[in-house]
Amino acid sequence: MYWEPDIETMPRPRLENMQLTKLKRTLEYAHRSPFYSQRFAAEGIDINKLRTLDDLRRIPFTVKQDLRESFPDGLLCTSYEDVVRIHSSSGTTGQIIVVFYNQHDLDSWSNLMARCMFGAGTRKTDVFQNCVGYGLFTGGLGFHFGSEKLGALTIPSASGNSRRQIFLMQSMKTTTVHIIPSYALVLMTVLNEMGVDPRKELFLKRAFLGAEPYSEATRRRVEEFYGIDVYNSYGLTEMNGPGVAFECTEKAGMHLWEDAFILEVIDPDTQEPVPDGQEGELVFTTIDRQAMPILRYRTKDLAFVYPEPCPCGRTHRRISRIKGRIDDMMIMKGVNIFPTQIETTLMKVPELGSNYLIVLERRNLVDEMIVKVEVRPEFFTGDLRRLERLRAQLVADLRTEILITPKVELLEPSSLPISEGKAVRVQDLREL
Ligand code: AMP
Ligand code: ZN
Repeated sequence: MYWEPDIETMPRPRLENMQLTKLKRTLEYAHRSPFYSQRFAAEGIDINKLRTLDDLRRIPFTVKQDLRESFPDGLLCTSYEDVVRIHSSSGTTGQIIVVFYNQHDLDSWSNLMARCMFGAGTRKTDVFQNCVGYGLFTGGLGFHFGSEKLGALTIPSASGNSRRQIFLMQSMKTTTVHIIPSYALVLMTVLNEMGVDPRKELFLKRAFLGAEPYSEATRRRVEEFYGIDVYNSYGLTEMNGPGVAFECTEKAGMHLWEDAFILEVIDPDTQEPVPDGQEGELVFTTIDRQAMPILRYRTKDLAFVYPEPCPCGRTHRRISRIKGRIDDMMIMKGVNIFPTQIETTLMKVPELGSNYLIVLERRNLVDEMIVKVEVRPEFFTGDLRRLERLRAQLVADLRTEILITPKVELLEPSSLPISEGKAVRVQDLREL
């Protein structure tokens, strides 16, 4: 049931002791990097005076801009000879950041990935198909090495070429996939076009969905269509990539591996800690990385910590589904809206397909939201009255969810652009 029983079920006092020991070592490593040695000096921080986990809060946050400004290697605390790989964030701004790993870091990461996959029921008898981009994106190699460590047959199918993906799933009898939520939805359309019934003609048991925000309604839609269990997978390049937090078979929140990361949840405005159960910004400190530790990294991801322990017996705390990134929050007529709220409403409606796009426009100084969504082929018939009723119902449902009235456009199947990597769900044309 557990990959590493001792660590996964470690009583919390012992776990916290372990964190403190690892944190002290991490600060020693960090101090060797140009970035943190300058920062410690500027802030008058003596790392030898750190006595408790709470003392970590004396160290300032690290933000994405710090990583950009110290590109490529300002946070590196070892030599180029020691490191063996880099990954880079998919950031949409064009300004990339890199993370360096030495062999210890890669081994630690693979082990975390194996732990995640095992905890969600994967065994060495499984066939694992990794349907995400390989390369600088961490989701490819991260899961790949975890799966090999677990001993499962690993298929590096990467993303795209949907028919080949399905052909591989059929011929290799794939039981487990890792896939980005929007691409899991795209494959549903392809399976329909090919006339393949995934419940009868594929061998899938489970899928790991992550790398972008998605709603519980999407999980349900994917589970029902494929006849599988979907487990939420969370991570970010700055913290290795995937393997930071992952659902166990309870499917009720993601265990955050506290022997590798220290978690804080803060109010993004005041930067003060928030209590368990209350939503805030996730902040992480690596405590099992040697080449490039990152301290108190502000993720801009919003979630909360479950106050109660998980029935599975693991003592590492669970975080909730990510509501969204602070950057993705849309402010319309004074109301804060996350794309996942709109997705929740759309994915509950059986007549709708899975692809949608949110467009924001400004007309005569008034902000407008247009939700474009594809209708399932069998509903997209000539019956205009039925489509109009559906459209009106959607406007009403969305208004209940997001408190403003959007325009809704129902589109023909396969008319919106599809993505093989992280989907772009919002097009903000207001500044143009
Ligand atoms: P990157 O480092 O470019 O792969 O992006 C990491 C970001 O992807 C995170 O900070 C989250 O915003 C997002 N992300 C990753 N996994 C999930 C997930 N399971 N649910 C929601 N967002 C996620
Ligand atoms: Zn659990």
